[in-house]
Amino acid sequence: MENVWIHIRGIVQGVGFRPFIHKLVRSRGLSGYIENTSSGVELELEGEREALERFVAELPEKAPILAVIEEIEAVYSPDVKGYAGFEIRGSKTEALRDTLISPDIGICADCLRELKDPADRRYRYPFINCTNCGPRFTIIKDVPYDRARTSMCGFPMCPDCDREYHDIENRRYHAQPDCCPVCGPKVFYLDESGRRVPGDAIELAREAVKAGKIVAVKGLGGIHLACRCDDPEIAQRLRQRKHRDEKPFAVMCRDAACAEAICEVSDAERAVLESFRKPIVLLKKRAPGLWHISENSRVGVMLPYTPLHVLLFGEDIDMLIMTSANRSDTPMLADNDEALQELRGVADGFLLHDRDIQTRCDDSLCWVLGGKEYFARRSRGYAPFPIQTGRELPPVLACGAEQKASFCLSRGTCAFMSQHIGDLKNMETLANYTGQIAHFERLFDIAPRALACDLHPDYLSTDYASERAAREGLPLIRVQHHHAHLAACMADNGVDERVVGLVWDGTGLGTDGTIWGGECLIGDYAGFTRFGSVRPIPLIGGDRATEETDRAAFALLHDAGCETGDIPNAAAYEKMLAASFNCPLSSGMGRLFDGVAAILGVKTRCSYEGQGAILLEAAATGDDGLYPIVLEGEPLRFDWRAMIAAIAEDRRRGVEVGRIAARFHNTLIEMAVRQCLAAREASGINTAALSGGSFQNMLLMTRLPQRLEAEGFRVLRHRRVSCNDEGLALGQLMIAREAIRRA
Ligand code: ZN
Ligand code: ZN
Ligand code: FE
Repeated sequence: MENVWIHIRGIVQGVGFRPFIHKLVRSRGLSGYIENTSSGVELELEGEREALERFVAELPEKAPILAVIEEIEAVYSPDVKGYAGFEIRGSKTEALRDTLISPDIGICADCLRELKDPADRRYRYPFINCTNCGPRFTIIKDVPYDRARTSMCGFPMCPDCDREYHDIENRRYHAQPDCCPVCGPKVFYLDESGRRVPGDAIELAREAVKAGKIVAVKGLGGIHLACRCDDPEIAQRLRQRKHRDEKPFAVMCRDAACAEAICEVSDAERAVLESFRKPIVLLKKRAPGLWHISENSRVGVMLPYTPLHVLLFGEDIDMLIMTSANRSDTPMLADNDEALQELRGVADGFLLHDRDIQTRCDDSLCWVLGGKEYFARRSRGYAPFPIQTGRELPPVLACGAEQKASFCLSRGTCAFMSQHIGDLKNMETLANYTGQIAHFERLFDIAPRALACDLHPDYLSTDYASERAAREGLPLIRVQHHHAHLAACMADNGVDERVVGLVWDGTGLGTDGTIWGGECLIGDYAGFTRFGSVRPIPLIGGDRATEETDRAAFALLHDAGCETGDIPNAAAYEKMLAASFNCPLSSGMGRLFDGVAAILGVKTRCSYEGQGAILLEAAATGDDGLYPIVLEGEPLRFDWRAMIAAIAEDRRRGVEVGRIAARFHNTLIEMAVRQCLAAREASGINTAALSGGSFQNMLLMTRLPQRLEAEGFRVLRHRRVSCNDEGLALGQLMIAREAIRRA
């Protein structure tokens, strides 16, 4: 007989780990105890040495699917204490809170079966869950993770649930949010004025949506507005009430087969759709249409991820529009009273419940690229799962950018990226941002020793960082926007060496005080040089030019010496340009896309970010033509004037818009390849990293890596965080780490 003390670090709480251990211990005839600690779990076992060693060896492969084992420490000793049986001890609060927290998990197959089984005591119970599924991150108030520190604290277990919770053989053994119709949360339905309607809440909601009403539905991380998606008039009503003119809606489909009725679904896309993380996947429409849902070639589709969603769909609703409920640009609504107040006049009914959402978490949004998620938004189902960097990190808070704000905190080798926060341009979003920073610091027990932020002085995240750094006497590292993108892509791929970084986005403040955005940088975490860029475009009227994109069209055409006569207000723009009145220069790739979309008449007024580029990508049809590519100067700038002149000429000759759009994409891809080749020539670096919001373009993302690889480059693209500004904080963090190491 021997004794072994085992410490396991990782995601091992709230994922059915202790019951798993218990079963394994019993089947091996061992004895001892297990205990949750703030850093994972700790156990002591006794038995024959060989049996103990086999037990330790088998842990990683036999662990529950949600468990992530980061480290197992085992210390053997001949001092046997003589444990009888196996004991699961209560939570132990330690000073060092090393635990990870599981994201929220979509309903599992076992729970789904019970939900539909009339003989089961949780038949049609909308909060059914188990150790393999259910809410986690969005209900957790504090660690260690147990019921008392979640929004389930107000729902004491009934004797039946309590029995399951303590029964080692039960699949709800130690499932903290476990509950049933007797003891758990209740769902209710309210009419448009917030009055409770008697009857079966779910049936009432089903009848309402079927009748064409807009119903607010409380989900895991926030409240959605749901309505039929087969009727353009209903969608139009939703747009009017939400003040959302053109931005595509997401759709929830009953299952993948329903999604296939409207979209092409590859095997890989189906796997991501059906995964327990349940993100919104941007799928290609089967045929043009569904314009009232999405004006472009793709539709965001997700599957029901809570039992409440499953019941709402029943057997006869195939798909519903499901859009986050919020006042424009403010965080997703999560609180019942807040929803009733804010959605008055927007929702015709409310399907709510009495389990509080502790933490807001928007639906994740991704494409499927190379068989895996390629994120536009990494949030529910993923956050707050850390990005493993494989590098020892000092405790740093990276504050992100402004649009698609996020933050990132480090501990050990983990980078904890926040969920989606939204655009930091109002007090509500700022309050959610600062509140979440405090929540993460408490949950993961991180006290930052340094802060990192963007170079831009006007970002609210920069304000927050500089004020806090001053207040707490912490060093503040200001990171150039595109350098942070480059570093984020390096860290995302676990790369340390210098790379050629193609960083294309809308705007970011450059080190020279001008706006950058179509950059070819050479660098690493320690620093960078601006090897290449794009000829600056005057933003006629400043920020207005990003919405009224015919201003960008005018600037491009005018600079290229082309006709501008058919652009409204051309004379006024010309005067502003001549006087250099409110026409800041921008080398942003976003403006080039906007401008070309406007020249082609695809879109001249944008009502949401990136709209021109998205529609231009959607318009592009097969054509392998190229426009002239002029690269000159230092930094090596893409002079787009010859390309614009050729586009204007094609347009004049009546060439189809789709062909011109395709040629434009081809030209940018070849331009990028030539910049990278020149950068390789100058630096000897053979790795190209692609980052920035412009790479949310699947035409670029499929062809550019292929072209670069054909030229012998190793291509890095984002895999675990978004390529847009949401992923930026990870890069800031790594650059700050390097600055601290060198200081
Ligand atoms: Zn389950
Ligand atoms: Zn119960
Ligand atoms: Fe950016």
